[in-house]
Amino acid sequence: MDPIPAPVSHTQGTLPGPTIQPRNPIFPYTLYGHTATRSPFHLPLPAVDVLIHCGDLTKRSSAEEYRSTMAAIRQVQAPVKIIIAGNHDLSLHQQFVKDNMNENVSKSQRALAFHAEAKHIVAGSKDVTYLEEGTHEVSLPNGARLRLYTSPWTPSYGGWAFQYEGSHNFSIPAGIDVAVTHGPPLGIQDSASNGDYAGCPMLFNSIQKARPRIHCFGHIHEAWGGYYAHWASPEGTPWQQATGSGRSPGGSHPSYTSGTYNDLHFDYDDSNSDVSMPDAPPRTLEALDQARSRAVETVDSLRLLDKDSDKEMAHKRERYARHSAEGCCRVDVSPEGDAPVERGKQTLFLNAAILDRRYKIAHFPWLVEIDLPIA
Ligand SMILES: [Zn+2]
Repeated sequence: MDPIPAPVSHTQGTLPGPTIQPRNPIFPYTLYGHTATRSPFHLPLPAVDVLIHCGDLTKRSSAEEYRSTMAAIRQVQAPVKIIIAGNHDLSLHQQFVKDNMNENVSKSQRALAFHAEAKHIVAGSKDVTYLEEGTHEVSLPNGARLRLYTSPWTPSYGGWAFQYEGSHNFSIPAGIDVAVTHGPPLGIQDSASNGDYAGCPMLFNSIQKARPRIHCFGHIHEAWGGYYAHWASPEGTPWQQATGSGRSPGGSHPSYTSGTYNDLHFDYDDSNSDVSMPDAPPRTLEALDQARSRAVETVDSLRLLDKDSDKEMAHKRERYARHSAEGCCRVDVSPEGDAPVERGKQTLFLNAAILDRRYKIAHFPWLVEIDLPIA
């Protein structure tokens, strides 16, 4: 995802990656110790060229929720609006519906009708584009071309839709601009509240290989934040692949288990034997030049902590007020931006979950400025 060699458009396609959950979209309250005049997510969002929703369009997969989400998405000033499904969007996953149908014929028919209705609501609209797993190219009205990879799949945890047991093939081609997945890659903005790294190792491997300019996702609500990553080695260099069962807390599953990654192990290219490393922190981070990589903004970088000095608190308040006024967290990955991303060398990772674990709106949507090639 990322070609910019030749003609680069100066149209700056802007890409927020919000996981919009539009229930109570305008609701001011206090959070993180800040007395906020506005919720982190409030309409109207800034006008952008592309809106991206990283999945979980609903909480319970009801037709009413899909309609409500679509209505909120339509309110955003963006000529292109892209959405994917998440594990909560049960009825969008036809196989899941079939597998979970009751043997009773009339119930089965109702289940399939439920799937057809959900699909019609999200995929039957001209102004919002629902993408299933795969690679897509979108021409923007401003003349730019955007190449995307999208996937709703997350590691199995508790019987949700679009979840896999064992492994999943994230077939991400090199040269795309943005990877949009519902779940995070292992080790990056994937830290669940029980301390587990809930991301997927196979997804990390594919991202490491393809090196999209931006990878946005949601799913693990409490890990909202951005990470500006420098890859440690040149593109195409062999790297030890992360393996494992890839299980996750499911983002919002009511019960959290510990030891999620006890069976995680890594295969090294220079060895024929598997190296079993139970309880190891994700070695995926070794693929990054951590000295040059940095968090952009995270839950803790905005939360007021007792240990913070007065100066730190003032700085947090100032940033919070700025994001609140803009209605987003803004990152510029263009060459002159604050987080310049050069194809193959850096990737901006964004956990865009705007809800916290209790489904309260708690986090800002992202807005990314990026130069795209002319179509
Ligand atoms: Zn989810």
